[in-house]
Amino acid sequence: MQSLPNPKPDSALERYEHLYIDGEWGAPIDGELVESIDPATGRGWAVAPMGGAKDIDRAVEAARRAFATWRRVPGHDRAALLRRFADLFAAAIPRLAVIESRDNGNLVREHKASLAAQVQWYHWFASLADKAQGSTIPIDDSVHAFTTRVPVGVVGAIIPWNAPLLATCLKVGAALAAGCTLVVKPAEQTPVSALELAKLIHEAGFPPGVFNVVPGFGRTAGQRLVEHPDVNKVSFTGSTQTAKSMVRAGADNLKRFTFELGGKAPHIIFADADIDNAINAATASSWRLTGQSCALGSRVLVERAVYDRVVEAFRERAMAVRVGLPSIDSNHMGPQAHQQQLDKTLSYIQYGMEDGAELVTGGHRIETPELAAGYFVEPTVFAGVNNQMRIARDEIFGPVASLIPFEDEDEALAIANDTPYGLTAGLWTRDVGRAHRVSSRIDAGMVWVNTYSFLRWSTPYGGFKASGWGRENGIQALDPYLETRTTVISTTGQFPNLYAA
Ligand code: ADP
Repeated sequence: MQSLPNPKPDSALERYEHLYIDGEWGAPIDGELVESIDPATGRGWAVAPMGGAKDIDRAVEAARRAFATWRRVPGHDRAALLRRFADLFAAAIPRLAVIESRDNGNLVREHKASLAAQVQWYHWFASLADKAQGSTIPIDDSVHAFTTRVPVGVVGAIIPWNAPLLATCLKVGAALAAGCTLVVKPAEQTPVSALELAKLIHEAGFPPGVFNVVPGFGRTAGQRLVEHPDVNKVSFTGSTQTAKSMVRAGADNLKRFTFELGGKAPHIIFADADIDNAINAATASSWRLTGQSCALGSRVLVERAVYDRVVEAFRERAMAVRVGLPSIDSNHMGPQAHQQQLDKTLSYIQYGMEDGAELVTGGHRIETPELAAGYFVEPTVFAGVNNQMRIARDEIFGPVASLIPFEDEDEALAIANDTPYGLTAGLWTRDVGRAHRVSSRIDAGMVWVNTYSFLRWSTPYGGFKASGWGRENGIQALDPYLETRTTVISTTGQFPNLYAA
């Protein structure tokens, strides 16, 4: 993204110049216009607004006003609005997929599949909107005690660039269903799709102020949203490092947070596994989405007896990956989402070699005439990796597989858990006892056995350790957006005088 003080009115760029605040479209009062870069070409494709702190303040005020009435809208009416929105969203998939791809580079085909799933997600949230039930608490005849679940208030949703509409869906769907109002801040690299979403929210008929979108930079708009005293909760998907700074920034008003953060998933292949399927999963989970997903299983732990076979299969499979323009459905992998991510991936490939790993294949930026201006990297495989190397410890977010050999189950588990992260994990074995034993000892919020990346609206998702706080999805999806109020009503109204003579 480039700052664009005077965007030319006659330019061929798509133009998105307005923020969506309080049900209206208006220019940032405190921000600027930038050029959003298409990572497949390295050139601008859209003009987008970046709001500043004052724009965030206006959006929070609108969300606060709207909360007073939205919180009282019956759950079934909130559900009806969400369903109407889901239908509009479904009809917009072809357009949204192209827009999302131009901003973040993943394949249009992949976006279409994700967006189709998001329709189901929105329906799932709609189905939960009238089910935030409390409970009665049996004590004795003198009191009636019960709990009610009430919306937490104004939510700041801070969105990453790797899966903008999906991350937005998980937060917006749950928060709206719970009766919260929102200010959504998409990432500066991918500002456009949330503005498109706002058009659909508007068309669906959500009251003004319930949903607001202010694209902006993390250090200005994002920081203000976290610090704002009138934002009750921030729901964030992004890096662990940014989450730590948010906790500090939100400390003064004890901000509530839900965090879905980084991962460095172990993907364990035991020698007794169905090796062909394990390889299918491990290669896909190393390179899918160009490696730009926190759930990837690219730290591949392989039992020594099948290690050479797996390394060779990775090498062959990497050759079969078609890297190319995201608009072409037959391609497997697009570019990295932006220049800094490209630089980061290439640095980690360098670190892998410096730390003594064996580069099996890949490792370079793609410089063919068609792709040279974009941020394309070859699918990359390192063998002979040990778990202390930087490529095994840090989240790279590029298409880089690190193959680590192990001798037995205990060593596999020790390596698997030797990471600050704990988001996802995979293991492949035909031994049912081992499947239970190992999966129950992995410190991760999501463990897949003989499959990988299986995720639905109904499966709770979130991390142990440095991978996050709280869970998204599942029957509990509304929990992060609700407070529990316990009410105790005396049936007698008698209260003794403690100070009687
Ligand atoms: P990355 O480092 O991969 O860009 P981040 O976690 O920093 O990922 O960014 C994800 C989201 O967090 C973006 O919307 C970004 O603008 C926002 N962000 C970054 N820094 C801050 C911050 N200090 N306060 C609030 N939001 C931030």
